[in-house]
Amino acid sequence: MKTKVLIIGAGPAGTIAGAILKKEGIDPIIIEKTKFPRFVIGESLLPKCMNVFEEAGLIDVIKKQGYQKKYGAEFKRGNETCRFNFSEKYTDGWDWTWQVPRDHFDKVLADEVEKKGVKIIYETSVIDIKFNGTNSITTIKDKNGNKSKIEAEFIIDASGYGRVIANLQDLNLPSSLNVRHSLFTQIKDVNRPAGDDGDRITLIDTKPGVWIWIIPFSNGNTSVGFVAHQEFYDKYKGSYEEQLRAMLTDEPLVSERFKDTEYVFKPHFIKGYSIAIKQLTGDGYVLTGNATEFLDPIFSSGVTFAVESGLQAAKLAAKQVKGEKVDWNEYVNHIIHGDETFRSYVDAWYNNTLQTIFFAPNENQKIKGQICSVLGGYVWDKTNPYVRNHKNALNTLANIIKKEA
Ligand SMILES: Cc1cc2nc3c(=O)[nH]c(=O)nc-3n(C[C@H](O)[C@H](O)[C@H](O)COP(=O)(O)OP(=O)(O)OC[C@H]3O[C@@H](n4cnc5c(N)ncnc54)[C@H](O)[C@@H]3O)c2cc1C
Repeated sequence: MKTKVLIIGAGPAGTIAGAILKKEGIDPIIIEKTKFPRFVIGESLLPKCMNVFEEAGLIDVIKKQGYQKKYGAEFKRGNETCRFNFSEKYTDGWDWTWQVPRDHFDKVLADEVEKKGVKIIYETSVIDIKFNGTNSITTIKDKNGNKSKIEAEFIIDASGYGRVIANLQDLNLPSSLNVRHSLFTQIKDVNRPAGDDGDRITLIDTKPGVWIWIIPFSNGNTSVGFVAHQEFYDKYKGSYEEQLRAMLTDEPLVSERFKDTEYVFKPHFIKGYSIAIKQLTGDGYVLTGNATEFLDPIFSSGVTFAVESGLQAAKLAAKQVKGEKVDWNEYVNHIIHGDETFRSYVDAWYNNTLQTIFFAPNENQKIKGQICSVLGGYVWDKTNPYVRNHKNALNTLANIIKKEA
């Protein structure tokens, strides 16, 4: 087989890249290891995704699915609450998005991209790639063990946690963030509060370095998960389900809602989810989405990064295979800027700076709108001081709040 652009993985990064290449008049091939629908975590989107879905011609089909709309996010600590409404954000752009079961959502995207004429080969893994300049020969293996080769002029690696090129070329780096793990499931949310309170994503800061997500879906199920360090998990014994039930019982803000609820699937445990990378591009390839760097789920930024990077990578890849000159630093700088901005917010969450700001007795609406933009994924708007000076702006604000207290 021959193709101009080979895409590894049919998650959001891969399908967005496929749709954009098709729009640019290029016929890519996507190789996907699993059969869809397949489970993947990452259910809460950010409004910044929406213009990418629009540009890729996918927004209409997503709208038809009736997913739970997400208009903001709520953070809780004990009896304190901080609510962000994306309609109050500083940056122009979409002010809502969705909470989606990803098995369903990723299949909707992949099916639509196939309808647009992109070839997706399922149940087939990329197992080796040999580069010769920017050209490459990729070895793929189907579910029956049959191997074949694909010649490509360029590869977009959208393999997520598969990290195909990073593994083949030894590009993985340990994350500089502390090691944290996650235990989660979906429950039949029979005790969901009525109306907006029950539909909203809620992030609960329970104790230092431990937090819970609650992400309600329109199908009546709700995703519930803990993020914590090893010492926290060490306190709970038994199966993952027994541990999760005990953790939820111990947390007063959620114990009533989730008591005796049915689990949709056995809880999953992801150990040490953060990972970093030595480089984002090389001769003949670019890395996108989770195949690059993954920080932390606290701000639901993973899918937004996946689709934004898929979009930008595909645009440049299209130029390159058409023979135009491409400066891949454009891509690298764009992704690194977004990543560093979110990193400051992730750090500020785990060192309590953000909690000082979120749960301050007085709210400054202008500043709240600027921070709200970041939480909406608008991390490339450098007119926003809470993007431009991300780290310093948060520290300065927290210090002022502490002095006033
Ligand atoms: C605990 C936790 C909670 C999270 N919560 C959120 C959240 O609320 N919101 C959010 O936006 N993000 C969240 N994320 C992040 C989110 O999971 C990812 O950022 C997102 O799924 C990345 O999309 P992707 O397209 O890069 O990769 P994926 O969605 O992982 O897709 C990659 C695809 O590549 C395929 N593949 C892998 N290896 C190969 C191979 N060798 N050959 C062919 N195909 C291959 C896989 O089968 C898969 O289908 C969370 C992450 C964690 C760990």
